[in-house]
Amino acid sequence: MTYICPVCGYDGLEEPLYDEDGDPSYEICSCCGFEYGFDDLDQEYSFEQYRRKWIEQGASWFSDYLKPSKWSLKKQLENINVIMEE
Ligand SMILES: [Zn+2]
Repeated sequence: MTYICPVCGYDGLEEPLYDEDGDPSYEICSCCGFEYGFDDLDQEYSFEQYRRKWIEQGASWFSDYLKPSKWSLKKQLENINVIMEE
């Protein structure tokens, strides 16, 4: 069972972002680097703000060795119904 990152659409998260009590997982997304419980609650980024910043900075992978060879940002964003503006 894996979970989808609401920031970048990566579908390889190992834990739910928040448990049933609303406690964050503190998992760091291997793709965009968003840390649930830190970037949202502590740094007060919304998923959308963080996504915009991440894309502006080149949308690079946090764990580059996990990046699939034929990776498409556009396709991945479709996982969360975000359409890239050209
Ligand atoms: Zn992500």
